[in-house]
Amino acid sequence: MPCAPLAASVVRTVDPPPPPGGTAGPELTVDLAAIAGNTRLLAARAARLMAVVKADGFGHGAADAARAALGAGATSLGVTSVEEAMSLRTEGFRVPILSWLNPVDAAFEEALRADVSVAVPGQEHLAAVASAASRAGRTARVHLHLDTGMARDGAAPGQWAELCQQAREAERAGLVRVIGVMGHLGCADTPGDPCTDRALALFREASNAAARAGLRPAVRHLAATSATLTDPRTRFDLCRVGAGLYGIDPTRTTRLRPALTLRAPVVSVRTVPAGAGAGYGHAWTAPRRTNLALLPVGYADGLPRAASGRAEVLLGGRRCPVVGQVSMDQVIVDCGEHAAALGDVATVFGTGDGGEPTVRDWAGWSGTLEHEIVTGLGTRLRRTVHHAEETA
Ligand SMILES: *Cc1c(COP(=O)(O)O)cnc(C)c1O
Repeated sequence: MPCAPLAASVVRTVDPPPPPGGTAGPELTVDLAAIAGNTRLLAARAARLMAVVKADGFGHGAADAARAALGAGATSLGVTSVEEAMSLRTEGFRVPILSWLNPVDAAFEEALRADVSVAVPGQEHLAAVASAASRAGRTARVHLHLDTGMARDGAAPGQWAELCQQAREAERAGLVRVIGVMGHLGCADTPGDPCTDRALALFREASNAAARAGLRPAVRHLAATSATLTDPRTRFDLCRVGAGLYGIDPTRTTRLRPALTLRAPVVSVRTVPAGAGAGYGHAWTAPRRTNLALLPVGYADGLPRAASGRAEVLLGGRRCPVVGQVSMDQVIVDCGEHAAALGDVATVFGTGDGGEPTVRDWAGWSGTLEHEIVTGLGTRLRRTVHHAEETA
């Protein structure tokens, strides 16, 4: 396809230039009061709440998120790797921390010395943890992890009895203490899915089997965000909640508050005639004479390229479409007849309260989950953290 004729575009230069120390590029704001508020709502539905701050607190900053959640009712922290747990200890967190996803040769000894509890999904992991305990001269606190039907992490139900037996032997040897039994639900975002009933039955049976083996786990935990919000049967002694803390409700049943806002300044503006192609491959051509604005955020910052052709931002109080392909570092916004000015600031996503798109909108435009958007935000975004007390 031939390229459209070179557009006689008008690039306006700024007059006067933006003040030094003025807008300093895109800014990601983290609202810890939102995390605190979501935590309170979730903690009210749980016997105890473990704040899941894996993946850098779902992209919000693990330490900030942990502090906000612990200040609002959570009593422990959950992460996947021992390394994530260790950095929370380094940050000074003294509450119980559980790490549940590790290779068999993970730094378990270091974890035990730092009082990090670990989940074990099978006999090999249990043996590795027991041996680390023996070397460290400590008793490892472990949670036995049952696969409750996802074929993902955790011990298969057929191997559970043997795992419990081995754990009991390690308890007798003083190497481990089984303080928890855990499972995870694969279909809880669809309340009423029979897959959850089967998981519940498996989990109850496994808890009984643990007791029969002589184990006395104090906490049984199965529910994450979706089940905590919608299925009281799954809450047991503890709920492990991640997404919900950050305002993500996969069940769409509850009003939670998003904690992230991404703003970006307009770095250039131009007027293009009808027929002008914009961006790579001219994925979009101007249907009429129109005003474009350029924002310095792109897929390197976590805006999914798959949202090209659908996404919008809030600019000048209006929803404006993002046109052409999302580039690595920039997106083009069609402002229509309302030209933007250099230095104007667009809201790429936020709470939605001011008419701006939300992370959920971006997830919808790109066919993914909010989780993937928030955990995929780029490291070069300037971050500003609003502490709970400032905004509460
Ligand atoms: C991530 C994770 C959670 C938290 O799930 P959310 O749906 O984000 O609340 C809980 N348990 C396990 C095993 C996880 O991997």
